[in-house]
Amino acid sequence: MSTTGITPILAQNACDPEHIHDPSTAALVQQRLDTMGPMSMLFYEQPLELDHGQGAWLYDSAGKAYLDVYNNVPVLGHCHPAVIEAVTEQLSRLNTHTRYLNRDMHRYSERLLDHLRIPEGRLVFTCSGSEANDLAIRLAQRCTGKTGVIVSEAAYHGNTHLVTQVSPSSYKQGKVPNWVEVLNLDPLLTLSNTAVSSPDAVQAMVEQLEQAITRLDERGYGCAALLADGVFSSDGVITAPKGLLTTLAQRVQSQGGWWIADEVQPGFGRCGTHFWGFQHHQHTQQSTWVQPDVVTLGKPMGNGFPVAGLVASATAFAELNQEVGYFNTFGGSHAAIAAATAVLDVLERDNIPHRVQRLGESLGHGLQQLCERLPTARRVRGAGLFWGLDLHAASHPNIEDAALTRAVINHLRQAGVLIGAAGKAANTLKIRPPLCFDEHHCEHFLVTLEQSLEQVSNTMT
Ligand code: PMP
Repeated sequence: MSTTGITPILAQNACDPEHIHDPSTAALVQQRLDTMGPMSMLFYEQPLELDHGQGAWLYDSAGKAYLDVYNNVPVLGHCHPAVIEAVTEQLSRLNTHTRYLNRDMHRYSERLLDHLRIPEGRLVFTCSGSEANDLAIRLAQRCTGKTGVIVSEAAYHGNTHLVTQVSPSSYKQGKVPNWVEVLNLDPLLTLSNTAVSSPDAVQAMVEQLEQAITRLDERGYGCAALLADGVFSSDGVITAPKGLLTTLAQRVQSQGGWWIADEVQPGFGRCGTHFWGFQHHQHTQQSTWVQPDVVTLGKPMGNGFPVAGLVASATAFAELNQEVGYFNTFGGSHAAIAAATAVLDVLERDNIPHRVQRLGESLGHGLQQLCERLPTARRVRGAGLFWGLDLHAASHPNIEDAALTRAVINHLRQAGVLIGAAGKAANTLKIRPPLCFDEHHCEHFLVTLEQSLEQVSNTMT
């Protein structure tokens, strides 16, 4: 049976109500606990009450500004005027569900499908990435006649009953079920983002995958799907070596399984140049492309307005449709389509993936220089505006330091920069700002990060 002994990442940056300094904040937190209960986790030792946002900045109720290096949902920036205008106009005219004809929805679907080029691709709208992954797994299980799913060791794919089972990073105890297998990504962690090929690491991952498929076969489940985030976001942003994911996917597909590409985090231009994170792994020759069987979408798709979905072939949807129908009350509402269309308009009009690529290179360079200057900044990986920076103990360079990471995140919050953690050892700073980030934001972030790292490691040694 597969096991997962990882630290729950989501809890790493959680607020502890016992340690809040400001009495009025403590009272608010208490009110929240009294009304919403213990599952309503808050970020930061001193939690934030935000009042408004603009571009890459968020402001608290006292007017203090915070540079947002965490939130990937407002992909165009907080309160983007194009999205506000589109949604406001739509809400004041009509907002209902997908059981009526809607030309705007058809046009949006055509445009989105053009970006993906899945043969006979069809787009089904949901409200969340969880719902998209839930339906994707059900499609894969139905169409392959198998049940097993392979995910990475610290994956997060959502919150439904089905999808929680393939999200080891959500587990606070226990093991993944018998029909799930996890891949340990350690062989990839030491590779820098510039590693184009690393035969040993790829070989190690292929062997693990083959073993996982064999175990699923032996248990009678078979492998229905490899479900993977294109940049392994919650595993610590693992972007290298290029081609790894397509190599693994090809193995799964050759044995009758599906590749479900979870683009909920890396999609819509975040990784630069390509529109989708998985394309980072495509071979340059289109004839040798490995195509995902399903692509799931979410977070940035509506810049904060709830809209998500999945793309698979018409044949696959027809197959599942024989067994069970699918309708989502709010998924693909008129307002959701208005928001999604505004996002796509701006991404295309401003050629944002290209801009992200250029800025991402200089951000990556700045982070690399930080690794050369500071003993605690150990390794950096990433693509476009999605980076992971591993923090290790200053005196023990081989030891991942989750406590230092947590302290740096809280220090940065006080210094007006919002950031989070990832990775199974919870020692990776997850750098994932809105895509309206510019050179000044990058510079401000790098300077503040360096100061925080220095100050925090001095107090911890
Ligand atoms: N997949 C990935 C890779 C995610 O990061 C998330 C959300 N963090 C989801 C799926 C689930 O999306 P949602 O929260 O919209 O249900």
